[in-house]
Amino acid sequence: MLTIKSFKPSTNTILYSPIPTSLMFEPINLCNAKCFSCPYTEYSTDKTFTSQKMSVEQITQLIDNWGSLLRKYDIKPWSVAVLPWRYSDPLVNPHLETVLQLADKHKIMVSLTTNAISFGKRQCDLLQKYIHTVDKKIFVSVIGFTEQEVWDQMKVRRQKTFQSLEFVRDNYPELSMMLDIAVKNKNNKPAPDSTLEEYKKRTLSKKAKSKTNWMYNRAGTGDGHWTRPVGWKSSPTSFVNGCGLTPGKILNRLDIMVSGRAALCCDMPFDRNFPIEQTNYGNVFEIGIEGVWANLTKEHQLIYDQEFSENKLKLICNNCDRAGIKFADQKKPFQGWNIGKTINRQNKYKNRYFKHKIIQ
Ligand code: SF4
Ligand code: SF4
Repeated sequence: MLTIKSFKPSTNTILYSPIPTSLMFEPINLCNAKCFSCPYTEYSTDKTFTSQKMSVEQITQLIDNWGSLLRKYDIKPWSVAVLPWRYSDPLVNPHLETVLQLADKHKIMVSLTTNAISFGKRQCDLLQKYIHTVDKKIFVSVIGFTEQEVWDQMKVRRQKTFQSLEFVRDNYPELSMMLDIAVKNKNNKPAPDSTLEEYKKRTLSKKAKSKTNWMYNRAGTGDGHWTRPVGWKSSPTSFVNGCGLTPGKILNRLDIMVSGRAALCCDMPFDRNFPIEQTNYGNVFEIGIEGVWANLTKEHQLIYDQEFSENKLKLICNNCDRAGIKFADQKKPFQGWNIGKTINRQNKYKNRYFKHKIIQ
């Protein structure tokens, strides 16, 4: 097994997937919450922003495009997942049915994380009808422990969340069995058992857990108080050489904004905070998934290149506290990520997804 000590890093050993094996896209710039930690909140009162959404035709074009690539590369049916949300809640998507139909058509799983506010009859009927496409668990994320904290930190009423969970529990038992709730708060403290019990009793899965250490600076945005500033500058002796998200995540997942523009990762949220003039990987509605993925692969190779080059000074990762950084210090050559884990993950992906059609 590879370890950092015994392994000499080289970008040649990392698998750059020929197509994304996960697709995350923003169907609508709209959420039913305004969380203190979310880049959405800054734009949430601007109607020109919140009215932007993909049409049924665009969603169909996007998922059909991906479905045809999955067949081209012999990807096993039901082995990959689409995430039809980024900074929107998936249950407020007016075209949720289109997503579920297309997932069914292409044998793709649908992965959902929601704040649970919008579990209504329409949403639950659809999820129940297409339950075979829903990826094992439906994740629920709540910020704040008490009614007051949830209001202060999410601008939603905890009572409303409770009512929604009870509605699912009492009318859609199969869906309620899939719920997996994570409760966190601004102070990064563990949630009290009494808070977790409030959620457990409102699901049939009885799954509610506390989450800590969950805040990141999202590539330089945030309120400046609750995230650590990036106290480091890129230079020829100290530069980005990896990404500290889940190992290999950016190498496998394609992130698409509501406009169809490709993003490097979930920390690159919107056109507004990442203008196209600065960073442009293309638009899926113009050059397709293969086109934007080819552009992103060049960026991935630049990020994971273990040698310095001038282009590294322009990476958006330079302002991100999830960046992996190479240091001149031989005792601590890099921090924030693990190349061995990334290579192992990618090798697993190579065997799992690309047995026949990969050239490496
Ligand atoms: S629920 Fe999610 S998408 Fe909505 S504001 Fe909160 S963090 Fe952002
Ligand atoms: S290091 Fe770069 S690719 Fe990784 S999360 Fe940060 S901005 Fe995204």
